[in-house]
Amino acid sequence: MALRKILIHPDPRLKKTTAPVVEVTDDIRRLADDMLETMYDAPGIGLAAPQVAEMQRLIVMDCEKEEGANTRPMVLINPAVVWSSDERNVYDEGCLSIPDQYAEVERPAEVEVAWMDLSGTTQRERFDGLWATCVQHEIDHLDGKLFIDYLKPLRRQMITRKMQKLKREMARS
Ligand SMILES: [Zn+2]
Repeated sequence: MALRKILIHPDPRLKKTTAPVVEVTDDIRRLADDMLETMYDAPGIGLAAPQVAEMQRLIVMDCEKEEGANTRPMVLINPAVVWSSDERNVYDEGCLSIPDQYAEVERPAEVEVAWMDLSGTTQRERFDGLWATCVQHEIDHLDGKLFIDYLKPLRRQMITRKMQKLKREMARS
């Protein structure tokens, strides 16, 4: 396993739609392992392949963040929302590609997601609470969409300028 470098917004690769995974190969298994390690190291609760410059439809997540809870590392290949609730929920979202910036985003409170697991089997599960927010946020990444795209333009531009400044500082150090 190896840590991958997380792309920081703005980056054209974070705005692109990704390609479906056709087959679970050793490369895909390695990518999933690396992404989980990178996510836990960050630390974060979700990570999408384009955030590590892999333009494929794969996400990892683990929202079991309560003290003493067991971990639940999940790898979702070609995930798709197949049902979403009318009831909506607001969460203060953040993103590993937009460090230290948080904003309230409203999304369906519950979603059912279908995906392929690492053994190539189709899975289907209903998520609620933080899991529902996380899985929708990560699937958005696969379509080049960031949580700041839900904000008003002024707020989005403010965050983007902060990230540009951060990237200049990171490039200098
Ligand atoms: Zn994100």
